[in-house]
Amino acid sequence: MRLCRFDENRLGVIYGEEVADVSAIAERLAAYRYPLPHFDPLIAQLDALRPELDANTKTAKRHAISRVRLLSPVANPGKIVAAPVNYQKHLDEARADSEIHNNSQVAVIEKAGLFLKATSSVVGPHEGVTISHPDRRNDHEVELVAVVGKVARDVAEKDALGCIAGYCIGLDMSMRGTEDRSFRKSVDSFTVLGPWLSTPDECRDVGNLHLSLDVNGEKRQSANTRDLVFSVARLIAYASSIYTLHPGDVIMTGTPEGVGPVKDGDVMTAYVENIGTMQVGVRVRRPPLA
Ligand code: MN
Repeated sequence: MRLCRFDENRLGVIYGEEVADVSAIAERLAAYRYPLPHFDPLIAQLDALRPELDANTKTAKRHAISRVRLLSPVANPGKIVAAPVNYQKHLDEARADSEIHNNSQVAVIEKAGLFLKATSSVVGPHEGVTISHPDRRNDHEVELVAVVGKVARDVAEKDALGCIAGYCIGLDMSMRGTEDRSFRKSVDSFTVLGPWLSTPDECRDVGNLHLSLDVNGEKRQSANTRDLVFSVARLIAYASSIYTLHPGDVIMTGTPEGVGPVKDGDVMTAYVENIGTMQVGVRVRRPPLA
């Protein structure tokens, strides 16, 4: 199943080239009162809702995918865990490019560990990327993203993929510079998730998926997840040795080589095999005049 959010917080299931509007099912999710939970209520209930979602898909009102505005498939991620330098060739390019490494040594993932991005940086493909500091270099990073479906702590690598609700494409947009990663990569709109959440049955063999990114039709990144330094399972096991993972938590698995800058008006096309393609526009933020 491919699950999406679209237009004004509608819930959809992809059916061929159309989106079936199954929002009525979301209305039956438990309502939470303060303090709100640390998980995404829809992702937490996805297994239980699956039979109904499947049944409603055929009868629900449908719209052409091209006519809807796609939002992030995860509405309320509790945290965004991200892998730095998780492809060897990206590590090589980062070490060779002073604009990426900023004269600080780029450590291998075993030494660098993982990092967190602000959840407020999440947008969907329709909302696009807004550069707030056009005087700085702002790069695209296409990544396979795993979305956690179950509470997991100290999960073994062999059990890790069983904790996943699904996969989507992620853009880990990055302002280059000397500051901490969590600062540079948490700019509003710098985490693009989309175009939908593909459940694991749609996305087999996550260790062998082609992924790519074009800017204005020009190929920038093209790689395969078989070249991940830490596999998806190892990343989840590693993350869960530090953080309790909750339904809706987002795991960005790292970008391959070919990162580069984007500018106002660019259109990025990101692809991950077995998931799909999303187009994401880039614009520059123009603060309101005082
Ligand atoms: Mn990244």
